[in-house]
Amino acid sequence: MVPVYRYVLDTSAILARKMNISSPEYVTTQSVMNEIRLGKIARLTDYSSGILAVMEPKPESVERVRMAASRTGDLAELSPTDIDVVALALDLNIGLISDDYAIQNVSRFLGIGTSGADLKEIGKEITWKYRCTGCGKVYARDVGNCSVCGHSLKRAVKSYKIVK
Ligand SMILES: [Zn+2]
Repeated sequence: MVPVYRYVLDTSAILARKMNISSPEYVTTQSVMNEIRLGKIARLTDYSSGILAVMEPKPESVERVRMAASRTGDLAELSPTDIDVVALALDLNIGLISDDYAIQNVSRFLGIGTSGADLKEIGKEITWKYRCTGCGKVYARDVGNCSVCGHSLKRAVKSYKIVK
């Protein structure tokens, strides 16, 4: 049976959404899986590795997303992982589930349907960190702009736990 994917999931969607990620509708990228692996609950990683389909976007789609993001002004807000998930949605011509505003914005520009991951809805607590889009310095809180180089900060998952 050939799986029919309907949505690409980004990191926030996998960690936050109250949904059955074992659904054959969902696919994600290796870079997202690597990001989750950095989290504190390896169990979820092992669990997701077994059941969630992983595909890589085509390099030309990655380039197309970069160009689109540069046009919409979102490029500085997007990590390589973010760009991967948008590029995969483009490749497969399917929707994308993400809570990231920059991802949603550039997806809309490219005609990709997006939906939020409903972060507040569920039994997973996420701790965020903030990484400078310029020099990469990591902050525990959103301090606005980097004190070293002045670039803006981008939110990233620091750790998460499942709440029963
Ligand atoms: Zn910086």
